[in-house]
Amino acid sequence: MLEAADLMVFYENMLALNNVSIRCGKNQIVGVFGANSAGKSTLMYALSGIMLDIRKKEAMAGGERITLTGSIRYLGREISTIKPSRRAKMGIVLCPERRRIFKESTVLENLKIGGYLASAAQAAETLAYVFKMFPALSKLKNRLGGFLSGGEQQMLAIGRALMAQPKLLLLDEPLLGLSPLMQATLMRATREIRNERKISIIITEQYARPVLPIVDHAFILENGSAVMEGSREELMDNPDIRAAYFGV
Ligand code: ATP
Repeated sequence: MLEAADLMVFYENMLALNNVSIRCGKNQIVGVFGANSAGKSTLMYALSGIMLDIRKKEAMAGGERITLTGSIRYLGREISTIKPSRRAKMGIVLCPERRRIFKESTVLENLKIGGYLASAAQAAETLAYVFKMFPALSKLKNRLGGFLSGGEQQMLAIGRALMAQPKLLLLDEPLLGLSPLMQATLMRATREIRNERKISIIITEQYARPVLPIVDHAFILENGSAVMEGSREELMDNPDIRAAYFGV
């Protein structure tokens, strides 16, 4: 489905991703775990292509010089130079860190905005699916995004991403700041979404514990490098991983 090889990202002279290679198979859930500043968001920006826009904006503003190299193959095609809007049309949809929902728009408006690329029939079907998956949201259709709880905002962010008809959904730290109960609810929903919609999902998180039960495979990022990878079972059985990412 997706295979990224030797990704390097420099912000000026600061190496943020160092030769990172990751894969996500069709219908898989893949975890990317790493501490603050490990490079998780940088990786998501590289995969979604948003890094190309950031680089262009910085260059136009005479800001920092961003260097991005490496290969990204998606559905058999090299996409590393394809712009993010085209990647979204090809099915790579990013649900960004800190949710970034539209706070001045209602829940329903946020979802409709997410579906702007979809046909009317797809949008209607997906909207019904999102409300079935997240019944809490269906009761809040007319509430402004800014008045939702953190968990509700995350449901909305995932719902909005689904409206864009992803084949590969990128979830950047979806659990940040949420209660353990809400984290479990969201991870259950994520697994159901994968099963029911037949999409592939890459999830980054600082802590592996709430995410590992639903992943097929995961990578560990440290200081911009992918230092380890394995199946869910391999990582769960690894004492170093347990100590570093489970706190046990
Ligand atoms: P967090 O959990 O804090 O979101 P992260 O794993 O997502 O961390 P990134 O945001 O990808 O990490 O950052 C990787 C490194 O690159 C960090 O050291 C960060 O300070 C640096 N960095 C990120 N964005 C920029 C930027 N625009 N300019 C310079 N350095 C940056």
